[in-house]
Amino acid sequence: MRLVVIGSSPAWPNARSAHSGYVVESDGRRLLLDCGPGVLGRLREREAWPTVEAIAITHFHLDHWGDLVPWVWGSFYRRGQGDERPELWVYRGGRAFLEELGARLGFPDMFERTFDVAEYDAETPFRAAGLEVLPVRLPHYRLETYGFRVTNGTTTLAYTGDTGPSERIAELARDADLFVCEATLETGEADGEPRGHLSADEALEAHAASGAHSLLLTHRPSELPAPEGVMLAYDGMELDIVPNRLATG
Ligand SMILES: [Zn+2]
Repeated sequence: MRLVVIGSSPAWPNARSAHSGYVVESDGRRLLLDCGPGVLGRLREREAWPTVEAIAITHFHLDHWGDLVPWVWGSFYRRGQGDERPELWVYRGGRAFLEELGARLGFPDMFERTFDVAEYDAETPFRAAGLEVLPVRLPHYRLETYGFRVTNGTTTLAYTGDTGPSERIAELARDADLFVCEATLETGEADGEPRGHLSADEALEAHAASGAHSLLLTHRPSELPAPEGVMLAYDGMELDIVPNRLATG
């Protein structure tokens, strides 16, 4: 399994960086986790138009889905130059939300015309791009939000999307080979109530509780330092994820 960090910015962009977007590759098939502003352009640095098989969205904050809108316009105007229709996985109820957005931004069915929209249920695995994806509900202010646990049967990656502190994070990342964890804050006290993000220390605590083998911090403002000895995601980063530990450990 391979991870390609397409965009690693927090809710505002770091310089020369896109918002959230992570490609998981396995057996030549590719799944995009989140699609924030800047991600589509970055994907187009790699191929004329993205040929990812599926996209899965953690939640509807703009920095995690915004580039689905220009993706629609590109699909319309580039007609015939690549008619791929990626699956677009959103949580149950997300299809209606996309229709509502479509009615305001273009056409009610603009997303349905471009993507094969599918809905996932909390804590219920679905298959996308040949991978099994388990959506785990996480706390993120008052917005419905999920983290994804992605496995190809031998290797497992866990991705928080955005989350406040919760014991569920350790469940999401339990014994994973790579844990991609957000670390937006300088300190937990800097957050709102209810909580919606993690400090680097809180991300480290969640990682320790999970037993995951490796940790990759992301969604980190460039204004804040990363703790020493911890990998920090950057746009264009590519990691081969090798199983280092049996999941049953
Ligand atoms: Zn968010």
